[in-house]
Amino acid sequence: MTVWIALVVAILGSWWLGYFSRRHPSPSDNGAGLRRDYLRGVNYLLNEEPDKAVDVFIKMLEVDGDTVETHLAVGKLFRRRGEVDRAIRIHQNLIARPDLDKAYRDQSLFELGQDYLSAGVLDRAERVLQESVNVKQYAIPALKALRDIYEREKEWENAIRTVERLAQLTRDNLSPTIAHYYCELAEKALAALQPGVAMTALEHALQVDTNCVRASLLHARLLMKENDYRAALKQLKKIRQQNADYLSEAVDDLARCYEGLHDETHMVKFFMQMVDEYPHVPVVLILAERIRQQKGDKVAQDYVADYVRRYPSLRGLQVVIDLHLSTMAGQARDDLMILHNLTKKLLADKPDYRCAVCGFGCNSLNWQCPGCHRWNTIKPLHCFEGM
Ligand SMILES: [Zn+2]
Repeated sequence: MTVWIALVVAILGSWWLGYFSRRHPSPSDNGAGLRRDYLRGVNYLLNEEPDKAVDVFIKMLEVDGDTVETHLAVGKLFRRRGEVDRAIRIHQNLIARPDLDKAYRDQSLFELGQDYLSAGVLDRAERVLQESVNVKQYAIPALKALRDIYEREKEWENAIRTVERLAQLTRDNLSPTIAHYYCELAEKALAALQPGVAMTALEHALQVDTNCVRASLLHARLLMKENDYRAALKQLKKIRQQNADYLSEAVDDLARCYEGLHDETHMVKFFMQMVDEYPHVPVVLILAERIRQQKGDKVAQDYVADYVRRYPSLRGLQVVIDLHLSTMAGQARDDLMILHNLTKKLLADKPDYRCAVCGFGCNSLNWQCPGCHRWNTIKPLHCFEGM
């Protein structure tokens, strides 16, 4: 209620100031009509119908240089309170005035675009914001709003054009985001069984951002489909330099490439080097399986146990338990099974990935964070230390 009273006071203050400073009311003026509206508004307020009261007071406001600021402030306030329909009405009324100053018209148009965005009417928001892009003062926020629209609508070509323009204006490095848009196009083409189109999009992605892990992963998977394991391996190995945080995402594909090339020796050698630098659980798992096949269960168990001692974690403990389970029987196995179920339950509540910016946790890799909508901020929680 306090907010409404403050709002009404602001509106009335603005009206009275404007009314008395510009006008010299004569008996023929519409003062009587305004007084009637004013009393009607106060009546609504006293009857605790603030919505109707505000409607009346807004109607009383004359749109000109002195009151337009109040209209804009009230419009913004409505939007912030979630009353977007009212905000839209106010801004539409402003724009409809043919005598409105150009600067105010530009501002009202931009505000209207924000209203439509808040209301989820994206096609109208897009149309209005496209106009705001041409006004220097609103170009950057309008482009950012358009980017959000195109991301939500998955219109990736438009998103590319918009963010390219945004990068020119802000001089920010937005290449990683643009590369993700190309990856989105590639994934769309793959779903439509157009590998050629996908490959072109991935090449664009890597031209824009040579450190785009997602493009390298997708590129490698495309090559693997064509049984070109050597070229795929080359793409996957690039990830180490691009962003080692995502290496664990490539582990299974790396193993498949070596298997495709029937090169077990180099596979073990490669992963042995990798695990020293990046002791990620998926790498240890692949090595443990190789060791188990070549040297037996006991050696594999000792290998993993050694890593868990160096990098203690729940996930690592579960790997050790699972390895022992396969070789045990009777009561000992039953006892270990209790521990297995316990670690499994504890791990089920833990996310596998987390956003480094907003902390959003999830169990699959999202290249765009569902929480804060940033790209490349969700990382795998794969290190033994962290889990
Ligand atoms: Zn986030």
